[in-house]
Amino acid sequence: MIAKYFLPTMYIKNYQDLDLDKLKKRGVRIFIVDVDNTLISHEVSQLDDSGLAFMENIKNHGMIPVIVSNNVKQRVEQLARQADCAYYSFALKPLKLKYKRILREYKCNQDEVCVIGDQLITDVLGGNRMKFITILQEPITNIDNTSGKVTRFIETKIFNYLEKTNKWRKHNYYDNL
Ligand SMILES: [Mg+2]
Repeated sequence: MIAKYFLPTMYIKNYQDLDLDKLKKRGVRIFIVDVDNTLISHEVSQLDDSGLAFMENIKNHGMIPVIVSNNVKQRVEQLARQADCAYYSFALKPLKLKYKRILREYKCNQDEVCVIGDQLITDVLGGNRMKFITILQEPITNIDNTSGKVTRFIETKIFNYLEKTNKWRKHNYYDNL
């Protein structure tokens, strides 16, 4: 039960390890990207070259990158402008609200969407509830903002449970796509 909601389709160290060709071949059209601790640390307000290259690479593979973040508009909008992509801020992940809006606005099916993020109880849970392809990435820093600290605390408990039941192990990266 817990595994169904919390186990990602893929578990990777960093977005740079992703095989975008494979995702494209599997029919992914919309690529939902979390920003904080996935592309950049909370402490910076600009995407770096590698983050920008990743967003560009998604486009070059014929997929549409969309930033979905629980953070405020001011921050998210600036990053989206830099990456020249659409964004949904204050998304309240893992709620389905913004995800459903994306399906409507891009006229796509659930199996045409993948989502990458660093948090189990926002990015992975939200994506799994929508039956998207979910990709869990290691957070790029250990620094969380206030809400991140709370979710990280709960997340640790879930990780511990998954480890105890041998469903998941930290740093054991896999690809179940
Ligand atoms: Mg994040």
